[in-house]
Amino acid sequence: MTSRSVAHPPSSPAARVLAAAAAALLGAGALVAATTGDDARADFERLRANRTGAPVALPPGGVTLKRDTATWIFDAGEVRFLEPTGDGVVSGLVFEGRGRFRMSVPDPVERAQLARFAEQPDLAGFDEPFTRAVLRTTEAQVMALFPTPAPGAASEDKLLAERQKNWLEQRFYDADARVICGTGMPGDAYLRIGVDSDGFGWLTYTYDGLQAEEISVARYDPKQDFTEVWLSLDRPEDRTADGRPTSRQRPAIDVTNVDVEVDLRDASRASGRVGLFDIQPRRGRFKAVLTFVPLVDGLHALPLELSSIAEVEAVSDAEGRPLTFFREHIGGRVSMVDKSVYDSSLVVWLEQPLAAGAPYRLTFDYERDVLNYMPGRSWYPGWPEEALHDLHTGTISIVARKKHDLRSMGTLVDQREEGDDKRLTWRIGTPVKMMTFSFAERFTEQSIAQDGLPEVIGFVASNAGAAKNKTYNVVTDLVNSINYFQQLFDDRLDGDHVYATSIIGGHGQSFDGFIHLAEITFDIEPGGFSELFRAHEAAHQWWGHRVGWASYRDQWLSEAFAEYSALMFLQVAREDGRKLYDQYVEAAIEEVSGVGRTRSFSRTGPISLGYRAATADSRDGYVVQSYRKGALVLHMLRNVLRNLTKSDDAFIQVMRRFVAEHRGGEASTQDFVDTLTEVVPAEWDWFFDQWVHNTEIPTYAWRYDVAARPDAGGRFALTLEIEQRDVPEGFRMPVPVEVDFGKGQVGQVVVMVDKPRETFTLPLPKKPKKVTLNPAGAVLARMAKL
Ligand SMILES: [Zn+2]
Repeated sequence: MTSRSVAHPPSSPAARVLAAAAAALLGAGALVAATTGDDARADFERLRANRTGAPVALPPGGVTLKRDTATWIFDAGEVRFLEPTGDGVVSGLVFEGRGRFRMSVPDPVERAQLARFAEQPDLAGFDEPFTRAVLRTTEAQVMALFPTPAPGAASEDKLLAERQKNWLEQRFYDADARVICGTGMPGDAYLRIGVDSDGFGWLTYTYDGLQAEEISVARYDPKQDFTEVWLSLDRPEDRTADGRPTSRQRPAIDVTNVDVEVDLRDASRASGRVGLFDIQPRRGRFKAVLTFVPLVDGLHALPLELSSIAEVEAVSDAEGRPLTFFREHIGGRVSMVDKSVYDSSLVVWLEQPLAAGAPYRLTFDYERDVLNYMPGRSWYPGWPEEALHDLHTGTISIVARKKHDLRSMGTLVDQREEGDDKRLTWRIGTPVKMMTFSFAERFTEQSIAQDGLPEVIGFVASNAGAAKNKTYNVVTDLVNSINYFQQLFDDRLDGDHVYATSIIGGHGQSFDGFIHLAEITFDIEPGGFSELFRAHEAAHQWWGHRVGWASYRDQWLSEAFAEYSALMFLQVAREDGRKLYDQYVEAAIEEVSGVGRTRSFSRTGPISLGYRAATADSRDGYVVQSYRKGALVLHMLRNVLRNLTKSDDAFIQVMRRFVAEHRGGEASTQDFVDTLTEVVPAEWDWFFDQWVHNTEIPTYAWRYDVAARPDAGGRFALTLEIEQRDVPEGFRMPVPVEVDFGKGQVGQVVVMVDKPRETFTLPLPKKPKKVTLNPAGAVLARMAKL
């Protein structure tokens, strides 16, 4: 199950009371909640059996269901209703017959991407006949549109079972848990309809009040085993006038503190020694105590998220009473999926509905394998997909064998021996987005303390001779890049130290004052690349942590800014920095130029689609767009500002101001445009529309001619012909022209390319040796001869 935020939680106390009253009144119309955990469990098991009753013919004229811009016309045929819950509630149906799914798309960016996904340039929405459908809902008014279910015994329904299996096993989506959860959330809105369409196969529409963007249409590609979210829209009341989403998150709880006890004493049963530094993974036993404040009244069920490899043993309330929870063991059902895999949703059924504003505590007992670090946020429970937006304090207390050395975020507050073992406890007293720790069996530690900087400590899981020097190199790069960024952004980091630890993995991840680095960077150091990688993670202390991103559509602000900041560091940190910068730009242009062009990138989405830019054919689409193209967008913006203002100051001012205005908050792409406009007043939408919200990349085909000007005494005229291809009309970019007169004399002018074909004539003081359009990849473009 994936979910983002609860439906329309009211913000003021008065509104809350009204909502509670409305929820009480709605009782008759909305699905009724099972009152006890046992009842909820029984209902869940009933739904899992995928049983329906006898078919019922649709009335003459069929049934029409409308939701915002979507319409389903069930013209003629039969429906089979799901077996009712213990309270007699029917939460779905199966349809076979003749139907039609129509949907218009109010958001122009989404519309353009739908056309790309479908490979139909003129497609503006859906108008698809279908023959089969499966509907799930928590809304009584949806079910009321259909005829009354036939009495009699229910039996397993093949089509229903096949759909549920596909959603669960291929997409890790548990519709049954979502329905049960919905019955325990006042005012829940949930409608999911899969239709077997003529043109696109199964299309799954979902309206989910838990999501920041409530409306989506997904298409699962069975051949490539990949789900593409073809459309994602906000509910109408949250859309802007031009149909764009505001993507507002409305979690129903605010997690304030998480205390985690971790027992690392046992080795993993599944894996032997792994990684470059030969570490024995552990079977971690976790006890996580979540303290949270409900933001809405009457929550009876909590939709949480937890890493899908965590095996949950118990969930209990503050008095230690065990609670009912729902979490599908996918690996236990499907031979293709690893046995350790569960559905990442964890729905907890509470004994009493919660009151808004009153702090509440839940304890989760679970096990999972631990390499030598905890990645991301999902290793302890949180509100689905929004966990990263929910700042909290915490404690990490680890018991381990004495041979293990442990490092964690926060301040070490207790350290003791417990027989053959030891226990270390850290307190994270400043609210953070996510917590982590790491460990080693043998280790090398190096640190550098420099005035005005947090002390940087490198902790590597190796005590080999070379480890010392290499750890020192990593620490040096981090110190230098943090020092550079503090000055560049005019913003000092808060903590008194930053850890950098080697992790068994090929990636890096930045936590507050704690950086995971792929172990390989402590072993081999390709010139330029290793500085870039380390500085990228250091830059995330600002981009991602000090300045968060508002929604997945804005995540490029974190990745592209980290990447580009690292590139700026590379430029000054190495003697060959300028060359390495140019090489990076050249390689990135090469890579990104394939978007929209090559077979694999033909359907890739724009930067502002976030993870949804990836497709079945371009699984790395997100990385190519948000990291590489994102970095090129900042490279281009810097060039444009430099040309406008004749200095680098404006770009640096934009970065500084952006940090200052959003420190401790979350920024959107529009926030960045606003900051840019404050520093350099102009209309900037065109730049972001072209490069961030769209995928087109121009080709400049060009030639030039130099002629003496007989009327101007020895002076020359440069005639430049440029054809702009592969972009829509109105696409514009200032493109530099470099004129080399020889003997180190190089001049530059800028031409505004904004027409399909244009000729520019420029006066020159003397005859040039060489003329170059778009030198050093100033603009992301393909270059061609005319
Ligand atoms: Zn990153």
